[in-house]
Amino acid sequence: MRILVVSDIHANLAALDAVLSAAGSLDAVWSLGDSVGYGPQPSECLARLQQAGAVMIAGNHERAATGAISTDDFNPDAATSAQWTKKTLSPAEHGFLDALPEVSLQPDCTLVHGTLRDPIWEYMHSYEAASAHLRLQESPLGFFGHTHIPTLVTEDHRLPRGCELYRLQEGERIDVPADSKIVVNPGSVGQPRDGDPRSSCALYDTNDNAITLHRLEYDIGATQKLMEEAKLPRWLIERLAAGR
Ligand code: ZN
Repeated sequence: MRILVVSDIHANLAALDAVLSAAGSLDAVWSLGDSVGYGPQPSECLARLQQAGAVMIAGNHERAATGAISTDDFNPDAATSAQWTKKTLSPAEHGFLDALPEVSLQPDCTLVHGTLRDPIWEYMHSYEAASAHLRLQESPLGFFGHTHIPTLVTEDHRLPRGCELYRLQEGERIDVPADSKIVVNPGSVGQPRDGDPRSSCALYDTNDNAITLHRLEYDIGATQKLMEEAKLPRWLIERLAAGR
């Protein structure tokens, strides 16, 4: 199976379409949460994911977009965009988002937005969070999002902290190990934050048992124009071009 793994699309349809069209023929699409929020086309992105038959889970922005969680812990720009998203989505779309699970178990693979310890909120930035996640992950492979940084976490019991974290570069290939666990962040499709404004995603080939990281250019200006028309916060518009 050839599986496209995407995360943090953030209602950026131009970016999602660039990724989907470059991926070619696929057997599955897995989306790791934050499909909405920040960007100008939440309904269109949900429709596109549904058309693609994507497996979807919830992130903090799905929950904020329906009012299921409060935006008190969001920064002011994120809260403003969450309120806009909530108004823009239909009752049926709210119902769809509310029904999304926080964790999805696929054959030999676990999908979560943050970490298995705290699926909606926790960032897998630290060794402590990554070790706690790996202890809870029963499958050999996992995928996560939320940080917007393409990352590989490998279990390694020889290290006192129990794991190692690596930034992933374009074109990098990860062979899924037979005797230890890994968890991979494919980066963000719609709001990259590693200094590279190109969309980030991963292809998981189950025949090869390998994952490759891809970066793709998309029409950033088109998304920024729609955000201006929607009067979304200035910083959210500018950060797309900076990849921050
Ligand atoms: Zn996000």
